[in-house]
Amino acid sequence: MTEKGTIFSQNVKHIAFNEEHQKKMLARYIFFQCVAEDCANHYANVELEKSRAFNIRNKAFKYYDKFLVDFETNVINNGGIVKWARDADEAKYMVYNILSDEKAKNVVKTKSILAEEIGLMPFLEMKKVNITETDTGDFICYQYNERPSDPKHSAAHRIREDISETFTEKFGVKENLSPKQLITVTRKVLSDKYLNADAAITGADFFVADTGDIILSEDEGNVLKSIANADIHIVLVGIDKLIPSIDDLSVLLPLSSLYEVTKNKAKSLYTILSKPAKDEFRNQKLYVVLVDNNRSKMLEKEQQRRILTCIECGACHSVCPVFNTIGGHVYDNAFPGPVGVIQSISDGYENSAHLATLCLSCHQCEEYCPMKIKISDLVLRNRIEIAKEDGSLLGEKRVFNFILKHVSNRKDMDKSKEFFNRVELKQMLKKTWGARREIPAFAEKSFSEMYREINNFDQ
Ligand code: SF4
Repeated sequence: MTEKGTIFSQNVKHIAFNEEHQKKMLARYIFFQCVAEDCANHYANVELEKSRAFNIRNKAFKYYDKFLVDFETNVINNGGIVKWARDADEAKYMVYNILSDEKAKNVVKTKSILAEEIGLMPFLEMKKVNITETDTGDFICYQYNERPSDPKHSAAHRIREDISETFTEKFGVKENLSPKQLITVTRKVLSDKYLNADAAITGADFFVADTGDIILSEDEGNVLKSIANADIHIVLVGIDKLIPSIDDLSVLLPLSSLYEVTKNKAKSLYTILSKPAKDEFRNQKLYVVLVDNNRSKMLEKEQQRRILTCIECGACHSVCPVFNTIGGHVYDNAFPGPVGVIQSISDGYENSAHLATLCLSCHQCEEYCPMKIKISDLVLRNRIEIAKEDGSLLGEKRVFNFILKHVSNRKDMDKSKEFFNRVELKQMLKKTWGARREIPAFAEKSFSEMYREINNFDQ
């Protein structure tokens, strides 16, 4: 097992048997199931829309080189500046250099999984940039110096009482505040930050090749507030978020918030950003930092590249039994849950081998995925690639080949029950499967033996 894998197993053991954690995760799962049922009813034929979305993203893949250049040309024509970052370090320095060159002192940031992926916030803080997170969930996590546990509901792992105590400690507010009061405190703390911001860093849901537009989404208004005053707007976006045409939004935007529509109301607010704000009051500069960071490597993988069509709706991890057992913090990548598991393959086998075990092949996620991604199959694909590289699996392979050989023959299987009941085998599996799992004891007589006996077949 890799070093990362060993640390990971210890963390899993710790969290998977924590009852408090399990209760929170169960409540979250039940909530999603209720919402999802309601959401499916908003489409006359949701499967047709999913197929259309799939085709749009596939088209983007096919003509990536052309579409990316089209996008760059259109952004420049619209008055923006495009920068290309090959990896996380390049992206971080690019953002930092823009802020330094523009002499931006106060920076506000909105939720961005890519920023988490490249470790932007700690890097900018290390460089003494005065940066503030403005997404409520991420803002809460920031108070604890931890990363979001869930791509959609960042602070889902924290309980109200705990957050209230921390807010009292940090902001001197009353004790035992309600969720609504906690949000009010957050907004008050942030209001000055928006007003004094020199620069805003946002992510983007999509960027459009044929117009150069950038699509921003939010559900609390912090994105618009962040870019309203700032003279510098930096959009940090992965190259996978490319879509060919502005018309494609009619399919993709409703699907992006498919599981956020409750009681006929969509919670998401979308902004189509075409150009930097320039009027008598402002002369805003717009920078778009396009980040690769292993996405090209993923594009080369014929199967797994399907994961790049993900629109981050969050459905798969909401229904994933593994995610709902261990939570998001155990995954050591920015996008926890099945998406991160698949993406990790582009980061080398040392970083993905331990994650590839996190799938039970229940296929639940695929029922909900708006992009029709065969998530479990892609995890399996990762496993095949990892098994080819990982020499330490050779022992397990031999045992399984031996078992397979015996279970395929009825008589052999009947004979081998003693082998399966052997203490040594159980001890051996305990090492790889953990102390809490055991092979159930084989019955004294198999069904076929009993059947033969009752019917006197052998006499
Ligand atoms: S893989 Fe599918 S279900 Fe999971 S977040 Fe992406 S689009 Fe949603």
